[in-house]
Amino acid sequence: MAEAEEFSVRFWGVRGSIAVPGLGTARYGGNTSCLEVHCGKHLLIMDAGTGLRPLGASLAGNGKLDIDLFFTHTHFDHVNGLPFFVPMFMKGNSFHLWAGHLKPQYTLKYVLGEMMLAPLFPVPLEVFQSTVCYHDFAAGETLTPRPGVTLRTAPLNHPNNATGYRIDFAGKSICYCTDTEHFPDRLDQNIVNLVRGADILIYDACYTDEEYAKFKGWGHSTWQAGARLSDAAGVKTYVIFHHDPSHDDAFMDKVATDAAAARPGTVVAREGLILRP
Ligand SMILES: [Zn+2]
Ligand SMILES: [Zn+2]
Repeated sequence: MAEAEEFSVRFWGVRGSIAVPGLGTARYGGNTSCLEVHCGKHLLIMDAGTGLRPLGASLAGNGKLDIDLFFTHTHFDHVNGLPFFVPMFMKGNSFHLWAGHLKPQYTLKYVLGEMMLAPLFPVPLEVFQSTVCYHDFAAGETLTPRPGVTLRTAPLNHPNNATGYRIDFAGKSICYCTDTEHFPDRLDQNIVNLVRGADILIYDACYTDEEYAKFKGWGHSTWQAGARLSDAAGVKTYVIFHHDPSHDDAFMDKVATDAAAARPGTVVAREGLILRP
């Protein structure tokens, strides 16, 4: 495929809530949410969990970077890679940081500044030497950060709010909807409308339906609810994401087998995986 039309997503962090390194999670990965999305020559990053640190290392030597970074929300597991993202510290690089869940009470710059504040963290936000622009929008808006790259957005069902994204490029689509809790009695029409007919849906499938009863109201969904949503919205490839930290590789293998039987073609996200719509 010509570079001009390259459209791909690489998973650098697939875990929810907290990073869980160790032998038991070595195959699916222990880092928290972070995706690298290539839209032709444009590089998008979705969330800044601990997976952002190795992504930053992989970008070294690529020359001047000009990147858009979209946050679903600002819970720890989606932001705590940011202070360890080396390209942010380098003069000459440019970053546009986007969030749709904070207006009107907060701004993204304020919230990230609160995270990087002594004595919680030794250096403040101002330590970044790259050019950083902060963009606060309202979930539901459509964004066109670069020519040919369109992101439709929708509010998700999560404590303190979160934003779902649909990235459209070169006639294809990748959707990223985490963290969100399904409704017991109906589909979430915000998400159905956002992901309708999408090529790829990456979805918060933190739990199984059996486990879910214990975690009602925590703001996360199940792989079965994601499959129902994908069927209703006509999604092509459904990707199970935001794995619970207690789910080791053996557990995720079982989820993969069960989900593939329930909806053939279903993918369980793991670190290093690259998908093209
Ligand atoms: Zn999360
Ligand atoms: Zn969250």
